[in-house]
Amino acid sequence: METDLYDITIVGGGPVGLYGAYYAGFRTLRTKIVESLDALGGQITALYPEKWIYDVAGFPRILGRELVDKLTEQAMQYHPTVCTGETVERLVRDADGTLRLVTNRATHLTRVLVITAGIGAFHPKTFKKPEIDSFEGKGLYYFVKSFQDFKDKRVLIVGGGDSAVDWANGLLGIARDITLIHRRDQFRAHEDSVQKMLHSPITVKLFYELRRLQGDGRVERAVIYQNKTNVEETLEVDAAVASLGFLSTLGPIQEWGLELEGDSVRVTTRMETNLPGVYAAGDIVTYPGKVKLIATGFGEVATAVNNAAQYINPKASVFPGHSSSQDVHARQREAAAKVP
Ligand SMILES: Cc1cc2nc3c(=O)[nH]c(=O)nc-3n(C[C@H](O)[C@H](O)[C@H](O)COP(=O)(O)OP(=O)(O)OC[C@H]3O[C@@H](n4cnc5c(N)ncnc54)[C@H](O)[C@@H]3O)c2cc1C
Repeated sequence: METDLYDITIVGGGPVGLYGAYYAGFRTLRTKIVESLDALGGQITALYPEKWIYDVAGFPRILGRELVDKLTEQAMQYHPTVCTGETVERLVRDADGTLRLVTNRATHLTRVLVITAGIGAFHPKTFKKPEIDSFEGKGLYYFVKSFQDFKDKRVLIVGGGDSAVDWANGLLGIARDITLIHRRDQFRAHEDSVQKMLHSPITVKLFYELRRLQGDGRVERAVIYQNKTNVEETLEVDAAVASLGFLSTLGPIQEWGLELEGDSVRVTTRMETNLPGVYAAGDIVTYPGKVKLIATGFGEVATAVNNAAQYINPKASVFPGHSSSQDVHARQREAAAKVP
């Protein structure tokens, strides 16, 4: 049974959750992030990693993936525990007030919860064909967590968006052989990345789709077909990576007893929900005048975490001190160094 109690647990590792983790670390709170995807970054990572973002303060423009990298670097200074690939399903309050989060994999204990779940938990779209989906975990991937997992492998990539093209380019020099199939002749990916792929040793087959995977307990072959002629071809492969997009659903969060307005969680000006010790910020919240932007989410989560710090320790000030102050900075660094 789980007994490790965290001060603060952040549900959702999107931009707002990541910035919340930074602030929680800055407040020397023991922090955990739980994220349903295998990667951090929320909508940015799932939907627009290669798009320029022009309205984040301090950056005249920044690529989505770079913003996620910088937010992650900022958050990781304080070594929060990060649990990816876990969807929080249930929220239970123990008799002593401890919050118990039950995910599809584990149980997490926390004093305070900050919900930054955006438009809901992201899950990759699957083929909905047993002759393909049954190979998940046996050589079929819906997400590339580490390029090194594909070292010296023959890889088939399915899709024509940013992720598919980035994964194909990222595997160059690592995988033994890379084939990308796409059902159309137009890519929904950054032009530079597409050109890089087209001028590389990657085999690109347009108007091709995946019919089935074959193999004895693992992917060994992929049967693909030309969608104009229906002519099939069999490729010898060790892995298939599908990038078909993502589905998101608020799903279980709607059952936690939170006061909702449509798909959004109602919060006060302190970013408190109606449940004691449960705060929320970012795209998931609503209040009069709410604007769903990264910039507003950053402010909201700073408010949420600093108020949560006082909820945990009523003697603590809501105001964290200025990060630029030498004293505050030294104290925070010392606390960060002590975190295992
Ligand atoms: C194409 C596009 C372009 C955009 N461009 C801009 C722009 O230029 N500027 C701007 O300010 N905004 C832009 N936005 C909006 C911006 O991306 C969102 O405002 C921002 O991502 C909200 O951040 P968030 O952290 O609140 O939520 P999200 O980014 O949605 O992250 C929430 C995370 O929580 C996870 N999660 C949800 N439920 C659970 C659960 N139960 N358990 C575990 N994890 C869970 C999800 O998997 C997700 O990773 C754009 C959005 C899109 C789609």
